[in-house]
Formats: sequence, C-alpha cells, structure tokens
Amino acid sequence: MAVDNRQADASEESLHRIFTVPEAPDSTLGRIEKEISENLNAFLQTHIAAREKPLAEIEKDFLSADIPENPAFVSEHTHFLLDKLVAQSVHTSAPSFIGHMTSALPYFLMPLSKIMIGLNQNLVKIETSKAFTPLERQVLGMLHNLIFNEEEVFYQQWMHSANHSLGAFCSGGTVANITALWVARNNVLKPDGKFRGVAQEGLYRAMKHYGYDDLAILVSERGHYSLKKAADVLGIGRENVISVKTDDNNRICLDELNKTLASLKARNIKPFAIVGVAGTTETGNIDPLDQLADIAQEHGCHFHVDAAWGGATLMSNRYRSLLKGVERADSVTIDAHKQLYVPMGAGMVIFKNPALMTAIEHHAEYILRKGSKDLGSHTLEGSRSGMAMLLFASMNIISRPGYELLINNSIEKAKYFAQLINSHPDFELISEPELCLLTYRYVPEATQRALKIATPAQRERLLDALNDLTKFIQKRQRESGKSFVSRTRITPDKWDRKITTVLRVVLANPLTTDKILQDVLCEQKALAPQSEVSYPEIISLTEKILSER
Ligand SMILES: *Cc1c(COP(=O)(O)O)cnc(C)c1O
Repeated sequence: MAVDNRQADASEESLHRIFTVPEAPDSTLGRIEKEISENLNAFLQTHIAAREKPLAEIEKDFLSADIPENPAFVSEHTHFLLDKLVAQSVHTSAPSFIGHMTSALPYFLMPLSKIMIGLNQNLVKIETSKAFTPLERQVLGMLHNLIFNEEEVFYQQWMHSANHSLGAFCSGGTVANITALWVARNNVLKPDGKFRGVAQEGLYRAMKHYGYDDLAILVSERGHYSLKKAADVLGIGRENVISVKTDDNNRICLDELNKTLASLKARNIKPFAIVGVAGTTETGNIDPLDQLADIAQEHGCHFHVDAAWGGATLMSNRYRSLLKGVERADSVTIDAHKQLYVPMGAGMVIFKNPALMTAIEHHAEYILRKGSKDLGSHTLEGSRSGMAMLLFASMNIISRPGYELLINNSIEKAKYFAQLINSHPDFELISEPELCLLTYRYVPEATQRALKIATPAQRERLLDALNDLTKFIQKRQRESGKSFVSRTRITPDKWDRKITTVLRVVLANPLTTDKILQDVLCEQKALAPQSEVSYPEIISLTEKILSER
C-alpha cells in the first residue's frame, strides 16, 4: 500500500491526530490541500467530460463491499480520489457543458465553503448553529422579499419570529415541492371540531371527516416529476397528480384546467392544489401565473409555483415580469443550486403567509421546544448544513444587479442561439427560448422539405428516424467529450403531438461564447452522417419523397 514502507495504523494516537487542527502551511495536510487545489484547477481548465471511459470500466474501481481493515494515509487516499474519481467525473462548469441546469460556480465559493464544513453547524436547532439560524432566516426573508415584495415592517415583524416561518431551506426543489404540498394538504384537511387534523389522525380519518372521495393536485403536463413523488409520500397517490394539457408554447391550457376542475368536483374529488410552473425543466416556459392565481382563488385551492429553475429570473428587473402573478402564490419553490449559482444541495420553499407553515409544525422535548426559534420545527429534514451561508455570501458578493447581469446575459445568449438555429438550413428550433433554455434538432434541409409533402405514413417513418438520429448525435457528442447538450422527449403541436426527441440546451455559464455555440452546431452536423442506420434511412426516404413530386 504505502510506497515508502510507512504504514498507517488505527491507533488512538493517530485518530487523535486526525481530529486535531493542523499546524500551518507546511504541514502534511497543508501540502495535500495545495495539491488538491492545483489538481482541481487543472481539471477545471482542461476537461469537459473525462476521455470517455465506459461506466463498466469505472465500476471496477468501486467493486469491493469491504470496509477497509487497514487505515490509509490521507495523502495516499487523496491520490486514489484524484485518479479514480476526479479524473472520471463530469466537468459541469466547462463553458461547452450546456446541457443541464447544473453549471459553473463562482470561484469564491471554494474558500468560503470551508467555513461551512469547518464549523459543521446543524441548522435543526439554535444550540448547534447560533448565528447561522438568524442568517438563514434572513436569507428566507430576502427571497420572500424578492418574490412578494412586502413592506419593511412585514419583515421586521416576521423574519425572526419564533412562531412563524417565511419558508424552509432544504436540499433542493424536490424537498421544497414536497414541503409546499405537505402544507397545502394539512391545511385542506385541517383540524375541524372534534377532528384533530390529518397531521394527527391520518388521511383515512381525514377523508371520512371531510367526506371527499379523493384529493387531486393539478399541474401542466410539463410539471416536474418531483410532484408525483410528493403525492406519493403524502399518501395522495401519483395518479392524483392530474396532468393538464399544454398549448404549443408548453404552457398550461386554462380551458383544460377549468374543465378538469369541474369534472373533479362532479366526482366529489377535492382539487386542493394548483401548481404553476415557472420555467419548465424541459423547455423553460412559464405558465400564465396571474390567471392561475385567479382560478386557484375561485376554487379555494392552494396555489404553488414551482420556480425551482426559473425563480432566479426575479433578480432581473428586465425580465422579472415574465413571472408576473408569482406574487399571488401561496408558496414558491426556488433552487439556489440552479440559477443562483450556489453548490448542489440548496433549495427553498417560501410561503407568502408567515402563518401557513404552522400546519406542519412539529415539536420535540429535547429540541424544537415550543417558542424556540429552532428552524427544525418547520422543516421536513432534520439535521441540515449551513448551506444558506453560501447563498447569503453570493447575494452579498454578486448583489442583485450582478445576478441581473447573469440572468440577462443567459437569456440573451439563448436568443442568439435560437437565431443561429433558425438561420441554419439544417436545424429546426423546437421550443423558442423564454428563459435561457431551448430545444432543437438536426433535420437536413431537404428532409425539412420532404416532411412538408410526405404522406402520413412516410412522415411517420421520417419522424421516427429523426428521433433515432437525434439520440445518436447527442450520445456521440457527449462521448467525444468536447461539448455536451442533453436530450429529452416532448410532444410538439407542430408534429401532431408525436413524441419527439430533441436536443436541450441550458445557457447558464457566463463563459459560454457565441463561438462555442457555433461549434456545437458544426459538430452536430458533422456527427449526423456517422449514424449507420438512421442517417442513410433519412436520406433515402427524403430522396424518394422528393422524387415522387
Ligand atoms: C430542478 C427542478 C425541480 C427539482 O429540484 P431538485 O433540486 O432537483 O430536487 C423541481 N421542479 C423544477 C421545475 C425543476 O427545474
């Protein structure tokens, strides 16, 4: 194991050593730290994805289920991590990594994150977090202010109030959405006379008490899958997340929503929550939030806005009107680890009304005593890190106008890319960018003409082959490691709502240049003919269709 005959041992003395603050820069740990930084920097400057090593190969380095009997030196283990883990991870901050909502981070977060790990605060209660608790409450207040823009006195009254909470900081959008719907469920099935509420008595007795046959959550068919998880864990059932049809801009159809509401009511099913999506994960479109707020109000539903990805747009004075109506939501999900450029593991749900969260309040004797300011009394999660600190730091260091620049540039870059796609004869833009996300695909110019005149059967075959080709291009491009776009499947109106595989681009990295975007298209066009099945099929079908005319 150890190259130099030395052998790490599991003695009390060495354990004592690893828990002791190391002395200054020339200590072994100081040296290791420097090496890691240098190695990470090199990685961040060179790779996009590692020279594609098949996952099955990588798995060989992670095969043993044995917990080591012999301890390793930190330096030794660091080399394992650098070789086998870092080198084979994904370079999400590369400027040509434009496929996902996970993107570059500002570099100042590296040193600052040491404060978080170093102090190891636990935000579940004041006794293990002290100043971190008011900091997190302030962060929730700042986000509340960003969304709902209440008066100064509102925040002075509620932000630090022991019996209230403006929201919850959590690990991500999924937990945020679960929390929002948990609150909504507990409020619709709240205590009433002798009935002590669903939180105490459970769903079965709650339904009997209120006399509903079922509950339902309504969201557009572009709703995020986390809503189904929420329905599952809350005992509502995935089937009761009702998908409402979208229009050709991927926004919820209000007529369909009204029809669905009426039909649910006729069947004695209580629609208790309407979810508006502010930035769909697949296409980046925003539901008409103002109208959704009207409908939710009219039907007495909790109005939740899932702005996990798009919520950061509120930082932009130029574009925040795209989310008009969000200020009428009962609750809003925002992920800081998406467009607020904070490391993974930072989600939030914010409630307009500071009293709403009492529906899920939970107390325990040794912690979370009544009247304490412990954040844990209003969160689904128990122990939590001081992650809010990194969002706090980012909002101070970047500031609102800084975020506005990031957001505006991303949206404008997406518009540029859309224009590039539109003006290229061999590409088809599938969804127009509303925020910094768009979908498109490669369709040779002649094939575009052929599609217009094809018989339904020919058209079907061409579209199937195009789906295969899009998948091929996306995989090849990822494997070649220069750039990365993702792919998804949607049902565009233009193609009769047929399931269509599309390339998906998220332009969040400020270092992504126009040149990179041009190169991405060039590479995709060059990759297409390498497909041995779908490409030849498309070409021959195209020729046949065009020659028949
Ligand atoms: C990302 C996302 C989520 C889920 O968030 P996680 O942080 O991945 O748990 C939910 N809704 C939308 C619209 C999202 O984009």
